[in-house]
Amino acid sequence: MWRKRIFKGLRFRLALSYVIFFALLLTAFGFVLRGMLRNVVEGTVQGLLEEEWAACKGFLHITPAGKIAWKYDPNDKEEAAIVERLRLVYMIANDKGEVLESSELYRELGFDSPAIITQVMSDTKPSYTFQPNLRGQIFMVRQGILREKDARYFVALGRNFTPSLHVVNEFSLDYFSAVPIIILTAAGLGWLLAGRALQPVADVAAEVEKLSGSNLNLRVSPRGAGDELDHMIETFNGMVSRLEKSFQEIRQFSTDVSHELRTPITVVRGQLEVALMTAKTDEELRCAIESALLDIERLSQIIRALLQLAKAEGGQTALQMMDVDLVSLVSEVVSDLQIPALDRQVKLRALLPRQAIISGDRIQIERLLYNLIDNGIKYTREGGFVEVEIEVLESTGKILIEIRDNGRGIAPEHLPHLFDRLYRVPSRESGTEKGLGLGLSFVSWIVKAHNGEIQVRSELDKGTVFTVTFPIKAAEVKSVAEYGNQRETAGRYSNS
Ligand code: ADP
Repeated sequence: MWRKRIFKGLRFRLALSYVIFFALLLTAFGFVLRGMLRNVVEGTVQGLLEEEWAACKGFLHITPAGKIAWKYDPNDKEEAAIVERLRLVYMIANDKGEVLESSELYRELGFDSPAIITQVMSDTKPSYTFQPNLRGQIFMVRQGILREKDARYFVALGRNFTPSLHVVNEFSLDYFSAVPIIILTAAGLGWLLAGRALQPVADVAAEVEKLSGSNLNLRVSPRGAGDELDHMIETFNGMVSRLEKSFQEIRQFSTDVSHELRTPITVVRGQLEVALMTAKTDEELRCAIESALLDIERLSQIIRALLQLAKAEGGQTALQMMDVDLVSLVSEVVSDLQIPALDRQVKLRALLPRQAIISGDRIQIERLLYNLIDNGIKYTREGGFVEVEIEVLESTGKILIEIRDNGRGIAPEHLPHLFDRLYRVPSRESGTEKGLGLGLSFVSWIVKAHNGEIQVRSELDKGTVFTVTFPIKAAEVKSVAEYGNQRETAGRYSNS
């Protein structure tokens, strides 16, 4: 298990990449060095052969009849040694390719064919070749032309190249046998370096491990280096902050839901217990059951709405996108809500352009309008008004829907929570209006799902304005139609 972790770990992979890179570099460097060394020794031997060639021209004489004579002072030891050295590996041929004289060692290399001889003789530059003998030694041979009076001769001088090759091979052997040791040392060093480089990551991981759902207020402290890791820590801290907020919201939501469900359940239970103990007639029992049923209906309404909202926010509610003319839709909703408005003696009217088309889900947009206008009616006192206005802002490519009322307004401290699930502003009045605190959560989801925006302005006891903005699809503003309290139709949605 731990072995698997080591091999999969970043430290191992970093060290391994370092070692592979280093090994490749060392090998390439070794071959380059070997090549350079071989060039140097080749150059040296070539230089020696050039010197011998120059000496040869002084000592070697060939008569027109092809007779060869080495002219030197036999008493001069140095000269004798030079000539002896020259005659160790050599061959002389005429321009027809016929060998005139050759040394024993040269014969071991094999004679040059007449074709090679004539080719060398046709070239002005000398040629250098490597030739092996039968004992596996390699000789470097210089072949060139020697002019004697009018005649031209082919002369080849050779030198044993094997000792020089040995130097190159020995260097290669020493170098390449040192490579594994260097690589092993580099591997150890790479392991240590990778460990040091990754230590801050391990420290951060240790800090992150301390985090759990119950202490999301903890943050990983940045190291102050301003490097990539600090950037990662900042990003991580940002993510934890968002998580903490979501956790808090979920906690708050669970508390609110339990609270919201507990009250009607306790009431139902109380009603039924009292009825069981005290009801004497069937009529009394029936009354108690009916009242309990009403509360149970409210409970299932809340549960249904919560499930619907959870589905919508979880992306499980598919929107049926189409062109929606807000003008006709607002007219319909306003007509439908005239009855509740009349009941509460609230004047409801709409100020509409000729056309305002957005791309959206008609049913959801209708639900949004219904919720906002219904709230306006619900939270406005007798004699008040609710106004819906659509404005087409062609310059910004937006459509604005404003729902204004002169009702009881909302205190500033409640505004930030208005769109939270189950959030209701505590009523200062008798509290007759019924609601689940979910209508604005639906509105907020619908606006978001249509890439829109929603804003609310409110002043206590003066009124509230909700402004919804949608991207425009196509609009034509020609005239403004005004709808008053004339049509009377039943409402379509409740707030759930
Ligand atoms: P509810 O079902 O309680 O109306 P909403 O989510 O629709 O739930 O609204 C949340 C709260 O916001 C309401 O309880 C109400 O106090 C407040 N509110 C919404 N619209 C208005 C408005 N037009 N005027 C005053 N208060 C409002």
